[in-house]
Amino acid sequence: MIQIDSVTKRYPDGTVAVDELSLEIPDGSITVLVGPSGCGKTTTLRMINRMVELTGGRILLDGADIHAQPVNALRRSMGYVIQNAGLFQHRTIVDNIATVPRMLGWDRDRARKRARDLMDRVGLDASLAKRYPYQLSGGQQQRVGVARALAADPPVLLMDEPFSAVDPIVRKVLQAELLRIQAELGKTIVFVTHDIDEAIKLGDMVAVLRTGGKLAQYAPPDELLSA
Ligand code: ADP
Ligand code: ADP
Repeated sequence: MIQIDSVTKRYPDGTVAVDELSLEIPDGSITVLVGPSGCGKTTTLRMINRMVELTGGRILLDGADIHAQPVNALRRSMGYVIQNAGLFQHRTIVDNIATVPRMLGWDRDRARKRARDLMDRVGLDASLAKRYPYQLSGGQQQRVGVARALAADPPVLLMDEPFSAVDPIVRKVLQAELLRIQAELGKTIVFVTHDIDEAIKLGDMVAVLRTGGKLAQYAPPDELLSA
């Protein structure tokens, strides 16, 4: 479980992006952070893996403060997926995914084998392995991003608008596949979107934030008030 306990982020210029936010994110399910642009979703997500440091409150992972372990160890336990996939442009697809197990010290053949298994898992045809990111569609690139995030088998996946830049039909396919992957692998997923329909479709729990970084609602999708 990830416990966000009265967390505040005030950026150095004085902007309060997140204001005393408390949330308990259960294991093995999808929690969606939704709300308008600028309401603090990305900041919240990045505080969980310490890409952004909080300025008040605390975040606990399985009961321990996220500052109790080295930041690299924390990040290894959390896959991270962003909007435009953030792939290494000069590396092939298989090597983009294999980068993570290589960083964990796996030899190249084992890392590539793992990468090919993951390509299969996220629905990427094996024939794409030797291509470069620019040779893939946006939807395929996002699949690579998801495969790379899964490569070290982290218990947690942090996903920041991963499907927002792909066309609506591909987005539906990717959403369905995320639900399938989640059912198979049982990851703890924190998913950021500004799209309430996506939040309702994907979330086991939905946290609605409002401008100023305050929590408006936190409920399963069928209990959200349409206020
Ligand atoms: P969201 O992901 O919901 O769009 P963000 O977390 O990106 O929201 O931003 C929340 C607020 O914090 C916004 O007002 C944004 O302008 C501000 N903000 C984000 N990053 C910084 C930063 N590095 N310095 C100052 N303000 C920032
Ligand atoms: P954005 O493109 O959303 O603005 P940034 O440029 O601020 O993102 O930095 C995010 C980058 O950090 C990503 O491009 C990504 O490659 C890299 N990254 C990947 N995984 C992690 C992780 N677990 N923790 C920190 N950074 C990561």
